[in-house]
Amino acid sequence: MSDSNRSRDKELGMSRAITRRDFLNGVAVGAGGVLASGWMPSLLAAAESDAAAQDRPGYNPPALTGMRGSHPGAFETAHALRDGTWTPGTTVDTGETYDLIVVGGGISGLAAAYFHRKHAGANARILILDNHDDFGGHAKRNEFRPGGRLLLANGGTVAIESPFTYSKEAAGLIAELGIDPPALEAKCTDRSVYKGLAGAYFFDKETFGGDRLVAGVPSGPDGGSAKAWTDFLAKTPLSADAQRDIVRIQTEKSDYMTGMTQAEKKDKLSRMSYKDFLLKIVKAHPDVSVFYQTRTHGLYGIGIDAVPALDCWAIRFPGFEGLGLDRVPAGGRLSFTALGEVTPSQPYHFHFPDGNASIARMLVRSLVPSAAPGHSPEDIVTAKIDYSQLDKKESPVRIRLNSTAVQVQHVGDAKSAKEVDITYGRETKTYTVRAKSVVLACWNMVIPYVCPELPATQKQALKYGVKVPLVYTVVAIKNWTSFRKLGISRVSSPGMYHSSIGLDQATNIGDYQSPKTPEEPVLVRMLRTPCQPGLPARDQQRVGRYDLLGASFETFERSIRDQLARILSAGGFDPARDIDAITVNRWPHGYAYEYNPMWDPDWPEGQRPCDIARQRFGRIAIANSDAAAAAYTDQAIDQAFRAVQELLSA
Ligand SMILES: Cc1cc2nc3c(=O)[nH]c(=O)nc-3n(C[C@H](O)[C@H](O)[C@H](O)COP(=O)(O)OP(=O)(O)OC[C@H]3O[C@@H](n4cnc5c(N)ncnc54)[C@H](O)[C@@H]3O)c2cc1C
Repeated sequence: MSDSNRSRDKELGMSRAITRRDFLNGVAVGAGGVLASGWMPSLLAAAESDAAAQDRPGYNPPALTGMRGSHPGAFETAHALRDGTWTPGTTVDTGETYDLIVVGGGISGLAAAYFHRKHAGANARILILDNHDDFGGHAKRNEFRPGGRLLLANGGTVAIESPFTYSKEAAGLIAELGIDPPALEAKCTDRSVYKGLAGAYFFDKETFGGDRLVAGVPSGPDGGSAKAWTDFLAKTPLSADAQRDIVRIQTEKSDYMTGMTQAEKKDKLSRMSYKDFLLKIVKAHPDVSVFYQTRTHGLYGIGIDAVPALDCWAIRFPGFEGLGLDRVPAGGRLSFTALGEVTPSQPYHFHFPDGNASIARMLVRSLVPSAAPGHSPEDIVTAKIDYSQLDKKESPVRIRLNSTAVQVQHVGDAKSAKEVDITYGRETKTYTVRAKSVVLACWNMVIPYVCPELPATQKQALKYGVKVPLVYTVVAIKNWTSFRKLGISRVSSPGMYHSSIGLDQATNIGDYQSPKTPEEPVLVRMLRTPCQPGLPARDQQRVGRYDLLGASFETFERSIRDQLARILSAGGFDPARDIDAITVNRWPHGYAYEYNPMWDPDWPEGQRPCDIARQRFGRIAIANSDAAAAAYTDQAIDQAFRAVQELLSA
């Protein structure tokens, strides 16, 4: 490392002790791969003995910082299975038999167990296996204690929302857990804390020639006037041509597609990217594209080069005002997400401080009541999960973590078999269990490797979607006076490692209080989507996944410190002094792949890959949001309900 890099690292605080370097990215520590300062010795002991890590005192994965999400130790077994290099090692026949085994402890898997028990009764014996050290799948909880105070964030799934109204089953499950999103939203969401703070753009020197933070992105019901945009853009390093055309895009109401019917316009827009729409139809200067490039990252995980223009119309991006398009789905193909935007649905958007991890925790509390105290959505937020209760012999429902299913096979011919054998790897050993039926609530692309007896066409369909890689980074900082001084609460940084940063919505619920004053510690949220503009969507996702799995925690940490320093230092932020902890929630296999007309054929009804992929096979049914090709919590629940019904009716 050069002297200047070394001194920059010192300024950034790369050598400062924060609660995150206790284990390093990419190194699976012990075969279970779960390791942290407080309970490290007990986990190492667990790896060496028959005792499971989750039963050891102090086991509390949400409090781990560093590389989380798909954490070291969670994925090595599955990758070895994919690569044909997995070897079983010592195999233990547990002798355990269950009515139902669920592979995957995300919302879908937990919901499948919930629906099955509801039908089969409280004595139904159910085992849930998950490869992560915590349950919840993408609905993960992050805990921080800056200055001793509990702060919570979602490590993945954020909100109870959907492009469409929740189905009877999904809404019913949420209601049975006691969650009333509109009521909680009204009671617990505090929109006053960051009042007066605006959105901003950060233009980095590598992309725009010089670092510049420009606060006050025009907003409001009309999206900002031409004058507001002209004034804002004048402060940016964008070229005069780009500034002129962005004002046009934001405020002009021209019909750029005259002579075409609505249906023709919609059809054309559904087959071109938003970037092409801006450059070829609106005829904007090419420099405008970098300004908009990452705007679709949060929702789609890819940039405007790969998201259809019609989707961007549906989600109310600028430029379409003068086209006279009716907000109805008819006329052009939309992705699932965008289709919902033009279909009236329930307008709530509530989120718990730890996102939908609270739903997962409530499901777990319902399935294994001894694991957590309390009864309400308010008390779940600060309830402490006793992980040692999750997998008790005497409990009808058991949740076994750090356990990767490697084989799921009927005992005998699938058509007549009465049972299914499941083999899973955990720490250094391999175990077998048996069940009357199985719900695979894991990811579609894993299933062909785990369940090779499936028909070839089904396996091919299961492999079609490529999950969207993305990263939710959460940084605990000692105070947010820099945000207040700069007058900003969220920043778009289209050229940087993370494409946005922002303060989380304040929610006060039960005993949990969000920070109120700038002097209090706060959590900063950062989004990274490692897509590769210019490639087809699925290739962008494949490349992004390798990028994520190859990036060390040190790479992340240096980029995070550098980015926060460059954006916030004018407000007094010092990364070496102010950063308390960093959690990188890395999801190389993130959102379920949604179909869109730019990249996917228009399959006949019932013939989409997800329709073929989710067919029941003997005593094995398939759930998970991949089965709906839609990355939403309600879809994960709906698929669980369907899978359980299929097994019951078989
Ligand atoms: C970053 C992010 C943010 C999101 N935000 C929202 C949001 O705000 N609102 C919303 O509605 N939806 C959101 N979603 C989508 C939502 O999270 C999902 O639709 C839903 O939670 C998926 O639940 P699931 O159980 O189907 O899958 P998952 O949560 O992925 O759970 C599947 C589990 O199966 C495990 N598994 C895989 N293979 C095996 C194996 N062989 N053995 C054992 N276990 C295995 C996986 O590791 C995982 O833990 C978000 C998704 C991501 C990634």
